[in-house]
Amino acid sequence: MKAKVDQDVCIGCALCTQICPEVFRMEGDKSVVYVDIVPKEVEDACREASDECPVSCIYIVE
Ligand code: SF4
Repeated sequence: MKAKVDQDVCIGCALCTQICPEVFRMEGDKSVVYVDIVPKEVEDACREASDECPVSCIYIVE
């Protein structure tokens, strides 16, 4: 599973970095995905971050 943040849409609220810090981190005022493959043990947290993102800009590729 992979994840991607649409940088043009992210508002930098940092929620995803709190829900799943194993995948997302803030770089400047945007969140970025800093792993190539989402580790199995945090897939659920990564999906939750995607669901909870207020502007729905986290995309998951299974
Ligand atoms: S939750 Fe969404 S809007 Fe907030 S920092 Fe993460 S990707 Fe950006």
